[in-house]
Amino acid sequence: MVTDICRDLANSDGKIKSVNDYLFNYIRKFRFPFPAFDNYNATDQRVYPFCAILKYLIAQRELGEEAKLSLDDIFNYIIGNNCTGFEDIEHYKALVPVTYKHTDTERRQLREMVIFISQLSVLKVYDGFLYLDEISDSAKNEMLTIFLIPENRSAKIDRTEEFLEMASFCNRIIVPTFEMLTSDPSDIEFIEGNRKRVEHFRVERSGLLRKHYKQVNPNPVCCACGADMSKCYPWTDYMLDIHHLLPLSSAMAISKSGTSLTDIVGLCPSCHRAVHMYYHKWLKENDQADFKSKQEAHDVFVQATKEIV
Ligand SMILES: [Zn+2]
Ligand SMILES: [Zn+2]
Repeated sequence: MVTDICRDLANSDGKIKSVNDYLFNYIRKFRFPFPAFDNYNATDQRVYPFCAILKYLIAQRELGEEAKLSLDDIFNYIIGNNCTGFEDIEHYKALVPVTYKHTDTERRQLREMVIFISQLSVLKVYDGFLYLDEISDSAKNEMLTIFLIPENRSAKIDRTEEFLEMASFCNRIIVPTFEMLTSDPSDIEFIEGNRKRVEHFRVERSGLLRKHYKQVNPNPVCCACGADMSKCYPWTDYMLDIHHLLPLSSAMAISKSGTSLTDIVGLCPSCHRAVHMYYHKWLKENDQADFKSKQEAHDVFVQATKEIV
């Protein structure tokens, strides 16, 4: 059986262009009781865990706190308080932790769910925490008014029918309008017509990643040409771009210790643009749409930096 999501993905003009578009449509559909599990009951109270987690992160941000959750926080604040995902943001702001005794299985399941949802461009996993990235007010409002409203349609009694209904997007695919890009023509050039590059671009614009990179590398030195931006342009504040070495991946590979960020380098704006042009040239010459591996992308980056005069 071909679901609507498959149909949309197979269509080059489909609405879903990125992992982000897909996940944002999934958040408001995924719920417990889940029809693939034996304990499924169509009439049980529904819980939309991804809506609850994202609402809690937004609530922290609105309270002026760092928007981050560990697995234990999710147990104690969200699951312990029986949050369903339907509550409004004020409810999440007022949550008080409750000690929730979880089983090993619950912890493993929650961990898998967190890893899954962290592929959203607005989320990052870093040092055991799930972070909400720096987001604009319009992104926040769009999330709260569209993507974090649980779907809440009437459930089908039959597990299989219900599962198919969940896996289908029917005609209700909505894609986020926020983070819709920049007016810089060279940026548009390297994202056009390529779904993967949209993801890459979003990663490179992550404010959170930039913040962490800056903590680890306090001097704004370009990894390609070695120029120190604070010396070249003393009036600027950390004028480095974050470059993700592996264009085809949006996943964050961040070390557990938090002392180094792998796959991420800081580049001066000129080198950054030139490196992307080098990628473009290299891929064209090798008749490839994208890099085949992380190693290949890394090697081409090193090659590019060596050719800088
Ligand atoms: Zn440079
Ligand atoms: Zn880049």
